[in-house]
Amino acid sequence: MKLATIAIDGPAASGKSTIGELLARHLDYLYFDTGVMYRAVTWAALARGIPIEDEAAVTELAEQLCIDVVPPTVDDERQYTVLADGADVTWAIRTPEVNAGVSPVSAYPGVRRALVAQQRRVAMGGPVVMVGRDIGTIVLPNADFKLYLDASVEERARRRWREVRARGEEADYEPILISVRRRDEIDSSRDASPLCVADDAIVLDTTAMGIEKVLVQVGRLIEEQE
Ligand code: C5P
Repeated sequence: MKLATIAIDGPAASGKSTIGELLARHLDYLYFDTGVMYRAVTWAALARGIPIEDEAAVTELAEQLCIDVVPPTVDDERQYTVLADGADVTWAIRTPEVNAGVSPVSAYPGVRRALVAQQRRVAMGGPVVMVGRDIGTIVLPNADFKLYLDASVEERARRRWREVRARGEEADYEPILISVRRRDEIDSSRDASPLCVADDAIVLDTTAMGIEKVLVQVGRLIEEQE
């Protein structure tokens, strides 16, 4: 059996996007990171002066905003280019301001309804590796293979810190740890599609694993399923 849909969930910086992208490239599947959609809505709300607390206005924005994820348009280490109503927001959606606003935005049921509908349409287009928080539980409950990646919060914050530094930006570890911890709390405790492990997902703790080792393990797990 060929696996047509692969769902990867887990908290921030658990390795989802790195593994998801490598896996998709290896299998020649589409790679789709659903986090960018919640980030794009948050960025657009901030850019338009819509208060994050205004659930009705943020929901309307999510319903109207045109979000496109296309192959990289600039050679600057990006995995893809994210367009919000045509504007390149690939890096703008990774700022501390967006990090702080994205979990409250993604807790709004109307925002989730709008974005999940788009994500399901993407998955109907062909084989996909889809990455997020609720892919195996809500977006694609019938996915052929479900993986849940986890790691200690300290290790995840360290990875984020290294990523930011690698982009040449100044960053302190402590505020990143606080931000990751806060997002974990909101994402796990919200009423609408909280971050949790799907019953039939395979859980992998990557705290003490390099990316190569995770990839080998995941490849083995997928072969066992096929
Ligand atoms: O994966 P990433 O860290 O970019 O996701 C940003 C935020 O978007 C998460 O902290 C979470 O609040 C939200 N998200 C979500 N459901 C998804 C993907 C992301 O709620 N499927």
